[in-house]
Amino acid sequence: MTTGTVFNIQRYSIHDGPGIRTTVFLKGCQLNCWWCQNPESRLSGQEMIFWGDRCIGCGACSTICPSGAIQIKNGIPVTEKEKCILCGKCIEKCPALAREMIGEKLTAEEVIKEIEKDLIFYEESGGGVTFSGGEPLGQTEFLEGLLNGCREKKIHTAVDTSGYISWGILNKISPKVDLFLYDLKLMDNERHKKYTGVSNEIILKNLEKLSSVHNNIFVRFPVIPGINDDYQNIREIGEFLSSLKIAQLNILPYHHIGIDKYKRLGKKYKLVDIQPPSKEKLSEVSAILKKFNLNVKLRG
Ligand code: SF4
Ligand code: SF4
Repeated sequence: MTTGTVFNIQRYSIHDGPGIRTTVFLKGCQLNCWWCQNPESRLSGQEMIFWGDRCIGCGACSTICPSGAIQIKNGIPVTEKEKCILCGKCIEKCPALAREMIGEKLTAEEVIKEIEKDLIFYEESGGGVTFSGGEPLGQTEFLEGLLNGCREKKIHTAVDTSGYISWGILNKISPKVDLFLYDLKLMDNERHKKYTGVSNEIILKNLEKLSSVHNNIFVRFPVIPGINDDYQNIREIGEFLSSLKIAQLNILPYHHIGIDKYKRLGKKYKLVDIQPPSKEKLSEVSAILKKFNLNVKLRG
């Protein structure tokens, strides 16, 4: 029985592939994108989130903690992550629901059971399940178990990937996947390293190879003002994709609805001053990419 760490199962999702879908978010990602809206996805293990606006400063968490990880300072509990053994006792004890564990160990069978609850919606809408993250391919065996389970139940599957994974894994998993959602952010390697923390060489090579063995890939281009919306980057993306077999190119406008999560995780969000792109900008990006004979779709 394969187990993995999941941090969210979102039902009735309509932005992660065709029809009505259930999106299963797997924990762990090697990229560190400045615009990431799921910062809780990066670490592969469980982690604690603290809702400061809910906390009433009662100190119950500090008293119960078996490893002395929580100190009350100026009425606020401060957790030393190094000491925390993630036992969850402070969460159970907190009367204000101010503490929450991100990530749950689940078996593939447990996740499939959850997915199955909406079979009727998938059938009616042409939907299915999307495995996202994090990087779902990072939990390879677990993902394989999930994909096998879905195939047995005839549930359509999509895998949302950064492409930053070994070709061996991608190639092995590929025949089990109905649709790939493949992220492409920046063509210039130095800028890619700066804004995501990793080189784009593997990502570009994998996309080339994947497009020669899989016939249903939607490439997803998140438009982030001032970072990747310049003409050169858009043109290079168009040129690169026009030489590959790609079913769709989805343009995704940047948004910052995940900013709050950074605060709760004690992390810094670097793009506070960047606003979502205008409709005019998105139309302009779309028009440039359409010139490369790509099936371009603007997504909300
Ligand atoms: S999860 Fe356990 S060890 Fe960690 S802070 Fe809470 S009570 Fe302490
Ligand atoms: S138990 Fe909850 S409400 Fe009380 S101090 Fe700890 S986090 Fe705040």
